[in-house]
Amino acid sequence: MSGILRLPPEVADAIAAGEVIERPASVVKELLENSLDAGARRVTIDVRGAGRTSIRVSDDGSGIEASELALAFVRHATSKVAALSDLEAIGSLGFRGEALASMAAVAEVESASGGARIRIRAGEVLEQGTGPVVPGVNVEVRDLFANVPARLKFLKSDATELAAIKDVVSAYALLHPHVRFQLSIDGRITLHSPGDADRRRASAAVHGAAVAPEMLEIIGMPLVSGMVSQPRLSRGSRDGIVLAVNGRPIMSRTLVYALEECYHGRLERARHPIAVLDIGIDPALVDVNVHPSKREVRFRDESAVFSALQRAVRAALGASEPYRYQPAEPTASGSTMTSGPQPVLHDAAPRLSAASTAGTETAAGGGLLRPIGQVGPGYLVAEGAEGLVLVDQHAAHERILYNRLLARLRGGPRLSQPLLMPQAVDVEPALIAAAVDHREALAAFGLELEEFGPRSLRITSLPVEMPASRATQAVQETLAALSENRGDGATEKAAAALACHSAVRFGDVLEVAEQRRLLADLESAEESITCPHGRPTRLVVEWQELTRHFRRNY
Ligand code: ADP
Ligand code: MG
Repeated sequence: MSGILRLPPEVADAIAAGEVIERPASVVKELLENSLDAGARRVTIDVRGAGRTSIRVSDDGSGIEASELALAFVRHATSKVAALSDLEAIGSLGFRGEALASMAAVAEVESASGGARIRIRAGEVLEQGTGPVVPGVNVEVRDLFANVPARLKFLKSDATELAAIKDVVSAYALLHPHVRFQLSIDGRITLHSPGDADRRRASAAVHGAAVAPEMLEIIGMPLVSGMVSQPRLSRGSRDGIVLAVNGRPIMSRTLVYALEECYHGRLERARHPIAVLDIGIDPALVDVNVHPSKREVRFRDESAVFSALQRAVRAALGASEPYRYQPAEPTASGSTMTSGPQPVLHDAAPRLSAASTAGTETAAGGGLLRPIGQVGPGYLVAEGAEGLVLVDQHAAHERILYNRLLARLRGGPRLSQPLLMPQAVDVEPALIAAAVDHREALAAFGLELEEFGPRSLRITSLPVEMPASRATQAVQETLAALSENRGDGATEKAAAALACHSAVRFGDVLEVAEQRRLLADLESAEESITCPHGRPTRLVVEWQELTRHFRRNY
């Protein structure tokens, strides 16, 4: 081992820069934050060579005075924090005074503002003098990591780096709808937000015209603003989730969990919502100085934020609409829908007509359903105000029973049928333990069990809705749900298993009176768009869809 040496400044700077500037997208992020902090209303981003060749950002913000331009590129030089106490309540996106210095350490940077111009490469000032008088600031970062080959090696493919850049710009465009963002990649405009303060139009710019009308806005809720997708729109990944604190995108597994929990029973497994959620909180109640790239934050009271977020999302989801039949749009090439970074509508629906905004979660198609009959193995057909309604009888009944079971758990009237002849069920010892641990909840559901030897239970009472013939399998699956899901959501999963085994089956023939009853119950059920597993209960074929199809619109 050699002795301890102080690192030469260019090495120390490159190491420090690595914490802030990891990839081209970090450059974009830091420059956008500076523009927003400067009050810009228009930010233009030009990217070449996937950000390795050049990233140019110009804004119309307050700008930097000519005499201070060089200082802006010095490490720990900032106009946003002056004293230690300022760190206790940071109101700006930047505060560390490191971003411009870090870029200058690992690239060639040229900047113009307030009539001055400066060019720095690998930390060395190459040119400095007068420059064009531009509004705001222009910064161009060229040959990123040319002097840090190790970093260059770790960059991913062009497509991946570009996707990361697009994600950054998208997040800020969604969170700052009053700012006009324009991103061009190799001369082609790929994102252009209008900057008219309308969240939905920002969403259209980012997510596309098909998704934006499907987003539900959070209005008038404390702490949280933004928009979330309704259940009939979802994605196969979490890429569409943007969480932020005071306009700063953050990463938070806890808050993503809080969000996704609200979709429990509304989305199928492995489907995820699209969301933009901004938590507007007193800066003193959140520490943003946790991580060099400022992506993580710490809340003084995380559980309060957690519940505020859930209240806001649940309130918005109350306006969800049922799934609607949408004939596949023939695309220009005649091929199927593109996948990849494009948002994918899951069984859902591009255009949203004015007429269909009336429907809500608890009204199956916006009015009373008139039963018409049963078709195929297990579909009910009904007429609603909005159009023809097709109902999956099993899924619908599952939802109704599931809600009822949970209402009993919350203290509603307990309804059970005692069995005259208790029924024995063989089960694994782990399931007996689950039955003992959850005796109270099961009793609330109407299910009462007695221990009957080391591998067997006796059913003494069943939920009123459950046919005794299905009790054995129902008990096994319910107990399995309880033992597999310790803690969170276990009783809900158990209720779903009981509901599934109590519901009419997909092949069952239903009397007209039973059909009528089921439709009426579905109409008054909460979260009735999906069954407890997140599958749709019904499909609306809107009148106007029929009008369009039969060309009756002229
Ligand atoms: P920080 O944002 O943490 O202060 P930066 O290195 O990103 O650190 O920027 C240093 C300083 O340069 C900022 O504090 C700000 O005063 C100034 N600055 C940078 N970019 C801009 C811009 N686009 N408009 C106005 N001022 C800017
Ligand atoms: Mg900054």
